[in-house]
Amino acid sequence: MLPGRKAYWGSLELHHFPDASAVVRALSPDEPVILNRPHAAARAARFFTQKFPGKSLYAVKANPSQDLLQVLWDAGVTHYDVASIAEVRLVRATLPEAVLCFMHPVKARAAIAEAYHVHGVRTFSLDSHEELAKIVDATTSPAGEPAADLSLCVRLRVSSEFSELSLASKFGIDLADAAPLLQATRQVADALGICFHVGSQAMTPFAYVQALERVRAAVVDASVTVDIVDVGGGFPSIYPGMEPPPLEDYFAAIHRAAESLPVSYSSELWCEPGRALCAEYNSLIVKVEKTRGDELYINDGAYGALYDAAHVGWRFPVLCLGEDRSDALTDFSFYGPTCDDADYMQGPFLLPSDIRAGDYIEIGMLGAYGAAMKTAFNGFGQAAAVTVTDEPMASQYLGNRRDPRQSDNVVSLR
Ligand SMILES: *Cc1c(COP(=O)(O)O)cnc(C)c1O
Repeated sequence: MLPGRKAYWGSLELHHFPDASAVVRALSPDEPVILNRPHAAARAARFFTQKFPGKSLYAVKANPSQDLLQVLWDAGVTHYDVASIAEVRLVRATLPEAVLCFMHPVKARAAIAEAYHVHGVRTFSLDSHEELAKIVDATTSPAGEPAADLSLCVRLRVSSEFSELSLASKFGIDLADAAPLLQATRQVADALGICFHVGSQAMTPFAYVQALERVRAAVVDASVTVDIVDVGGGFPSIYPGMEPPPLEDYFAAIHRAAESLPVSYSSELWCEPGRALCAEYNSLIVKVEKTRGDELYINDGAYGALYDAAHVGWRFPVLCLGEDRSDALTDFSFYGPTCDDADYMQGPFLLPSDIRAGDYIEIGMLGAYGAAMKTAFNGFGQAAAVTVTDEPMASQYLGNRRDPRQSDNVVSLR
């Protein structure tokens, strides 16, 4: 943002616009504009806090916006899954009373010590004996007194076969090796948990049922008392060509499978949704700078909010904001603004065939791993944020979804 325009944009943040078209009419923005929909994030948060049969921790990495954190807190989300010391500090500064859970299984010793001694973090995850030793060491008092108030969650490796983005290879201890680690952790933990992550955008509740079967085997194998079962993230949102079953089906399947686990009678069930809580929070307005056949050169891309569109070929819903464009649609691909060939989003993105340079496009469902991914590479990356009051391009929380077995298209709300 140019310095002279800062005050101008700053004052706009107080504005609420009805929708993307109104933003374009008012601002004719030369740079991408992030649209915030606090009402959509609040609705998602209330859905989880009211319907998930346990506690919902927001996975901050999906979108660390302080405005969003405040929206989630106001809607009843009290626990936050943080993965770095910077996220610990950010959430602590934004929400002084929030409960923080440090769920990255590989942490720096200094990060654990600061989280525990300075920021009141008591819950940590781990997947190795080395990490357990590190946590015990870093939380011991200066007088040599070991911490007696730790909740420690052992991360189990589970399959990512039902998810669009795998988280299976990096973290998690194999079932075959889990018993000694669970037993050693039980010795030093006030509360012992087991956690896992089925991968992001899990397209069937069966992913969690299968993972919970592995939890059962681990608990039986180790013969330990387990106080927390944490089913992690992975709850899906709606994208073109990816319409998952209703979240109620996930909650019911998890509830049934967790109820029958051989865990402590007073045990707690947790989940760590990232995507599902924030996907509907943001969309993005981009400008078409140039057209070349069925390729559109736009002013955001792989190094901006469209990381997943470029790097994992994800499709997002799009809407042309130009006036009087044709009803005939063409499959377009996008080039982003940097000089890098990799700044390319294959799509296809279905837009009016006569879309032209100077037109604006709204790209929907970018609240998770979209707005959070913007970098300053090549001098791009500035984007103002404004609030809009219309509905996101698709929603899992409006109760008006078509039966997913009948269609895998996005439910358009316009
Ligand atoms: C990324 C992550 C999450 C959130 O995953 P989503 O797929 O966005 O729900 C939750 N827990 C852990 C440990 C993570 O790394």
